[in-house]
Amino acid sequence: MSVIEDRIRTQFAPRYLRLEDLLNDQRTMSAVDSFSYWHEQADLHQEVYRAFVPMTVPEAGEQYAFEVDLDACSGCKACVVACHNLNDLDEGETWRKVGTITSTKADLPVVQHVTTACHHCVDPGCLKGCPVKAYEKDERTGIVKHLDDQCFGCKYCTMMCPYEVPQYSKRLGIVRKCDMCSQRLSMGAAPACVQACPNAAIRISVVTREQCRPASREEALVATAPASLPTQPTTQFKTARRSALLQSNTSNWGLQSLESATESVQDGHWPLVAMLTLSQASVGVWSCLCISSPSGPVTIALAWLATFLGVVGVHAALFHLGRPLYAYRVFLGWRTSWLSREAIGLGAFMASSVTTSVVMTLSALGFQGVGLLVTPGTYATGILGWIGAYCSAMIYIATGRRVWSWSRTIWDMAWTILGLGCLGYGSIAVLPYGWMWGAWAFSMLATIPKCIDLWRGDHVHDTSGQDVSARSGRLMRQELMPQVGWLLNLSFITLIAIFMERNEIALLGAIAFHAVHRWIYFASCVFQRMPGAAT
Ligand code: SF4
Ligand code: SF4
Ligand code: SF4
Repeated sequence: MSVIEDRIRTQFAPRYLRLEDLLNDQRTMSAVDSFSYWHEQADLHQEVYRAFVPMTVPEAGEQYAFEVDLDACSGCKACVVACHNLNDLDEGETWRKVGTITSTKADLPVVQHVTTACHHCVDPGCLKGCPVKAYEKDERTGIVKHLDDQCFGCKYCTMMCPYEVPQYSKRLGIVRKCDMCSQRLSMGAAPACVQACPNAAIRISVVTREQCRPASREEALVATAPASLPTQPTTQFKTARRSALLQSNTSNWGLQSLESATESVQDGHWPLVAMLTLSQASVGVWSCLCISSPSGPVTIALAWLATFLGVVGVHAALFHLGRPLYAYRVFLGWRTSWLSREAIGLGAFMASSVTTSVVMTLSALGFQGVGLLVTPGTYATGILGWIGAYCSAMIYIATGRRVWSWSRTIWDMAWTILGLGCLGYGSIAVLPYGWMWGAWAFSMLATIPKCIDLWRGDHVHDTSGQDVSARSGRLMRQELMPQVGWLLNLSFITLIAIFMERNEIALLGAIAFHAVHRWIYFASCVFQRMPGAAT
């Protein structure tokens, strides 16, 4: 430890507080005040800051990383303010956050503040998920930078980052995030948060990428944080006093954070709800066309119904973008991003859907030769539709959130496609009552994963915060109860329409039902969160 660093630690090291200390502190200066006073007095402050940034460039296999001394962090949020000011962030936008870990055990009193920002991961989820390649990982320093001019504001990186680091700016229509103050670093100056911390709790260090590889699936940066395996974050949290904070299994200690102890309603993403519901209804109708053989005007009407639903659905997604004029770039990230692949899959599906509908119409009008294309076109459209829908499902599965697991999401979306497809088919082909009832039952099967959550929410009481299914169920039983009520109402409306043989109303009811169901899928998503993420 350098002399300068030692001096700071001696001056600002946390102490065991006695009542008279607290009373004295009240009469004197706050931590930030005293830092500012010291800053004015110190004659060597430039050198002091340099003690908190490495003076060498990382070598091969190494990179820069934040190092946080948990024993020193007092939770004053001077780092948050400094970051906000230096980067001129919007109101409510925070690139650095401070969370708190506490213990539920009365005999183990713990109040631990955790300062956290981007972890400049070895395998960044944000970078892999971005469909327009708006992220780059600097080869030399390992810093993960966001390229603001490339971003079109789809917000997918906010789902792909397990630490919820990228922040969406409504004003700019893009996301932004911490770049480790790379300009300052390149000049040998400390990042604003490092410089502002009155307790010298944050510094930049050089780590090997190997050292950031987690030893187990459960290993996390700090207690209650998401598992490190998916992205391999590089931040090094250190503590000499409370080693339990860095252990994977902290259940014995009863450690919890605001984020692990409470559930909050997530964004329902209405444009995505419309896109998924309508495009899946379209895929469903084309699937029915593949396995049945209606003829004449019924086939053409079904094809155009499917095309209409698909076109409206795909265009609804544009309302999700902060900068929709740049939507044409969506294919750029196809090598790594499921969002790019979805755009390619659904784009091909829609092109095939429109073409096959036109071919069917021309064939019915008596144009010679085109009739041969109808059957291959129908099958091609059905297959492309399922490929596009699979990519849609993978977008959410790839986030690693357990309530969006592969089995749950594929089950949910497959039955949505089949249910809506059959009801859409029945609304024009006028299927008999029994068939429509079966289609309604298919639709209901899609809700089984959410029904399991609802049941667990009432019957499973775990205090570790790990059972995200039960927590999602509790959210639905409380804040989301009105939407769950809507779901029940819409299923009855659909059923009554089927009884009254008003198949077109049944289709509208089922589309509304699945839209609300998809909204709940997004809004009730509970996942392991980093301490501070909810602040
Ligand atoms: S913490 Fe999130 S935003 Fe930062 S590099 Fe990792 S995945 Fe990307
Ligand atoms: S384009 Fe989307 S995924 Fe890429 S940085 Fe912007 S918001 Fe994130
Ligand atoms: S390094 Fe810079 S951008 Fe990142 S949290 Fe600190 S002050 Fe903010």
